[in-house]
Amino acid sequence: MRAMILDRSGSPLRLAELPDPRPAPGQILVRVKACGICRTDLHVVDGDLTEPKLPIVPGHQIVGEVAAVGEGVLPGQGEVAVLGKGVLPGQGEVAVLGKGVLPGQGEVAAVGKGVLPGQGEVAAVGEWTPDFRVGQRVGIPWLGGSCGRCAYCREGRENLCDEARYTGYQIDGGFAELCVADARFCFPIPEAYPNLQAAPLLCAGLIGYRSLRMAGEGRRLGLYGFGAAAHILIQVARWQGREVYAFTKAGDKAGQAFARSLGAVWTGGALDTPPEPLDAAIIFAPAGELVPAALRAVRKGGTVVCAGIHMSDIPSFPYSILWGERVVRSVANLTRRDGEEFLALAPQVPVRTEVHAYPLEDANRALDDLRAGRFTGAGVLVVNG
Ligand SMILES: [Zn+2]
Ligand SMILES: [Zn+2]
Repeated sequence: MRAMILDRSGSPLRLAELPDPRPAPGQILVRVKACGICRTDLHVVDGDLTEPKLPIVPGHQIVGEVAAVGEGVLPGQGEVAVLGKGVLPGQGEVAVLGKGVLPGQGEVAAVGKGVLPGQGEVAAVGEWTPDFRVGQRVGIPWLGGSCGRCAYCREGRENLCDEARYTGYQIDGGFAELCVADARFCFPIPEAYPNLQAAPLLCAGLIGYRSLRMAGEGRRLGLYGFGAAAHILIQVARWQGREVYAFTKAGDKAGQAFARSLGAVWTGGALDTPPEPLDAAIIFAPAGELVPAALRAVRKGGTVVCAGIHMSDIPSFPYSILWGERVVRSVANLTRRDGEEFLALAPQVPVRTEVHAYPLEDANRALDDLRAGRFTGAGVLVVNG
């Protein structure tokens, strides 16, 4: 297969011919149709994120078709996440589960070698694995896997798992004709979206949606940085009845016009003061100086959410702008629940994504254009057109 790979931080991606990946047990093989580009890809390429697998195929907003299904991911079947006493990992295996096995509801239909009747029992059955069939459309997001055992995973906060692994960072991603993914972390793509338009939903949309939840219920919402995530989120926020105040780089007339076309009630430069105090603000731009700027813009009790995975240092600021129970918080990654909720919500709004398409082999140009802010909306690589 053809892929764009990163050999080392700080170097451009290189077009390479790689062996086709094969799905391991629990994985699906996906023929990539489109893969969104994201500021996080820039942080991987630039080395701001310091734990990549190298070489790596970047890309974590993947839309494709299931080309093959690995052992243990059978259509319409569930999956065993935890086995009880006497069935130690690697010693026994459940070979087949009945259709629709949910915790407490299903039963083991057959047991593999080494699991003798009466010795082992199924203690818990994992969350429903989507019904992946060859040819089906599927989306692969940033969160590629988590341990499933730690306190974070058990509390539904798998986004914070210490052993979580990320697509296009530690797992080869979607800047390629094929990729493999753990089926448990993939989503069916809503019918209403063509491949290209669906791709930005998978990170810009999904992590944006998590950030919006963390911002609370307030009516006046500020968005700092009006790129792929903000152009999706403004649609959700307006649908929820909120007013959106869009902050761009000072003098970015095109970005501000784009925000107004999507219904922003006010646009301005990043350090400008909005006409009304905000109830909450979400910062997408990776610039630490926006944190005190946003704190100055929110009312008492308001929240400032930092949605990016990397940010330059935050300058010191007077306590008075945090005083009054203002909150600063970050949002990290996503959970599968965020994905399920957002992909169900997006067609209802309906969220429309504006995409700027590039062929796979132009990934470097696409990333440069993202860095320089040369397009509005979301950049997407077209693969297997
Ligand atoms: Zn975990
Ligand atoms: Zn992303």
